Amino acid sequence: MPHSLAFSTEYYNRSLNVLETALSQVAAYKSWQVYDPGREYPIDTRYAAMPILTKKDIRKHFPQGFFPSDRDIMGGLANGEIEFVRTSGTIDNTITNIWNQKWWDASEKASWKLHSYANRIATGNHPEAILANPLNVGFVSDSLELPMGKRRLARFLYLNEKTDPSSWSSEHMDRMIKELAVFKPVVLEANPSLLAKLCRYIVACKKTAFQPGLIVLTYEYPTNFHYQQIRQVFHVPIASSYGTTETGYVFMQCEEGKFHQNSEFCRVDFQPLQSEHGGPLLGSILVTTFNNPWYYVVRFDVGDLVRIDEEGKCACGRDSGLILSAIEGRVTNVTLTCTGRLVSLGELDEALSFLEGIDEYRLEQVAEGVYYLYLVSQRPDKERVSEEASEILKRLYGKDAKVSVVSESAISSESSGKYCISSTMFPVEMECYLDESYALSYVCGG
Ligand SMILES: [Zn+2]
Repeated sequence: MPHSLAFSTEYYNRSLNVLETALSQVAAYKSWQVYDPGREYPIDTRYAAMPILTKKDIRKHFPQGFFPSDRDIMGGLANGEIEFVRTSGTIDNTITNIWNQKWWDASEKASWKLHSYANRIATGNHPEAILANPLNVGFVSDSLELPMGKRRLARFLYLNEKTDPSSWSSEHMDRMIKELAVFKPVVLEANPSLLAKLCRYIVACKKTAFQPGLIVLTYEYPTNFHYQQIRQVFHVPIASSYGTTETGYVFMQCEEGKFHQNSEFCRVDFQPLQSEHGGPLLGSILVTTFNNPWYYVVRFDVGDLVRIDEEGKCACGRDSGLILSAIEGRVTNVTLTCTGRLVSLGELDEALSFLEGIDEYRLEQVAEGVYYLYLVSQRPDKERVSEEASEILKRLYGKDAKVSVVSESAISSESSGKYCISSTMFPVEMECYLDESYALSYVCGG
């Protein structure tokens, strides 16, 4: 349980410094002063009393609201220490952030310590190949093919310049396979849906791929199908890394499969869900960044659900912060059963993982009790696949669920470049599912 974890004195000192500097010197948090119970209270209590920082708040106060008033932002921009970076997505969810590369690299480096293998092979100078949507990272070029030299930056090679994965030709994927063999990356960092797509191609064409030292999955939720497809091609350790543009690296999966908090670089406040919706172990997280003098991010709602590890310990021995048994997908990925119980993407994915021969899927809940499952499968017995999927979903959502299974040739990505694996077509207010009383008792040491 979260309250049995011991954090270091340094962690509490960093938490205190960030909060006090934010409240006294950073404009976006000035109005939070009235919520502060005072210095005589424990730091966790003070954090718990504070509001939550949303993307809307970042848009409203950007950029002046997010650094101490004595910081020379124009100087920082002029000398290249920082820049303004816009995240991809629709107008509603895109935001501009203050990007501090030095801090980002340090946050990443600290996260490697949480995986023994990464810690051994990732030197900070190691060659790394990245398979991502260029809308998220890399160079965009949809009409013209960029030669390998034009997709290099420092120690990185970006394997893909196309924003629409459905436009990948066999030549494009052959080029990726060839470049992996030539570049020989120590680490392959990948968006799981894209790496799984490449792996399906490799398996279908009976090809092989260069084996990097480690595969790091990031950018989006890796499904059980993604893992199965990737493991058919790559026989190396796979770690999932969790973070956001705003917060840097927040959790890293260790060699034993659990997730450890990158507590040198961030504070995490856990908000459990009500017990009927998966709490108190399942909940959302608010992240506060440490050590970044240019960008104060306090109690930022990252919009993801995580599962606290029930044992509260890991076979790897690491205990420096929260330990998660899983990251269960984005808040926007939740769906509801016929009785209104919340289902995380993690729970849905676990249920669907029993299906065989599935390439990819997307579940849309269009109304209360009405679900559409879009399935991509190479199995010839399409009707049997539909029946199996329908049975699984009725077990999960309720026997009265109206389930339609639609066979597709491919699932398309969102305008952000990422895939949305599940969602409701109506708003779900997460506040209604949070257990406020538990949150309070945890903070008060209950
Ligand atoms: Zn561990």
